[in-house]
Amino acid sequence: METVYNVPLKTFNWFVEIQTPCSAHMHGIVKMLYSGRSKYQEIVVAELCNVGKALVLDGKIQSSLYDEWIYHESLVHPVMLAHPNPKRVAVIGGGEGATIREVLKHDVEEVVMVDLDEEVIKVAKEYLPEWHQGAFDDPRTKLVIQDGRKFLEELEPGSFDVIILDLVDPTEGAPAAKLYTKEFYQLVKRALKDNGIMVTQATSTSYTLKMFTVIYRTVKEVFENAGGYHSFVQAFDATWGFVWGSDKLDPSKLSSEEIDKLIKERIKGELKYYDGTTHLGMFALPKHVRKAMEEE
Ligand code: SAM
Repeated sequence: METVYNVPLKTFNWFVEIQTPCSAHMHGIVKMLYSGRSKYQEIVVAELCNVGKALVLDGKIQSSLYDEWIYHESLVHPVMLAHPNPKRVAVIGGGEGATIREVLKHDVEEVVMVDLDEEVIKVAKEYLPEWHQGAFDDPRTKLVIQDGRKFLEELEPGSFDVIILDLVDPTEGAPAAKLYTKEFYQLVKRALKDNGIMVTQATSTSYTLKMFTVIYRTVKEVFENAGGYHSFVQAFDATWGFVWGSDKLDPSKLSSEEIDKLIKERIKGELKYYDGTTHLGMFALPKHVRKAMEEE
């Protein structure tokens, strides 16, 4: 990936991502590749200075070429390896196709990806081949264009071993706002087998810590076991949080050695970020984050 350091600041048009009502971060725009509006959201693909090509939905970076693999490996592998034998997996959201790419590194029978927005998939197929790397064409992939909540409501109970929620943030008015509620996590639990496990992206443990803790406590109300972890993602300019829930399993109990052994035995293809040592780092949340998670 090319970086552009030696040009004067004014050379760029700036992409400004609003993080909270009173803070933002900025990237120089090297080139606009696509811009359009679907029924649900504004879709942009742009080449950004430092983080490279990026997908932006409603003004929020979803992932960048520079480190999409940090986000997607973090989201997928801890819960997949915590499950003894995940065969049927659902991904709710996941537009770029990189989440199913990571799931398909496991010996699964089927991964069902349910995304609301057909336009995002079309744009991903055309502009983001480095993300999906053929995952949409894998015979184990089933793509469903539907609202994730409706999909789960209509599903037979106990249909999946693992459910991965790779959704846009729960900001007011966003198409995924209702997919971070207690009612929704109850639908997720109903859709899981007894020893199933779920994980959701859970916003930032740095600039939206409160939102992360609310998601954690909501998941905890529904499942016997729940917990959080995070990874630093340069494209988001933040530590990014993930929350898992399960009645029987607990990825935080896996040792570094167990993770390395499981990766060797069960994952086909290369991981660039996640291994036993990274796992320990991700799950070792700092004191103030742990404290915020337990406060009412
Ligand atoms: N990595 C991302 C981030 O920044 O958190 C999320 C990735 S992915 C692009 C988010 C996807 O969620 C989008 O493709 C969007 O269409 C989808 N989505 C939003 N609301 C949804 C809903 N109600 N049901 C299913 N998919 C939804």
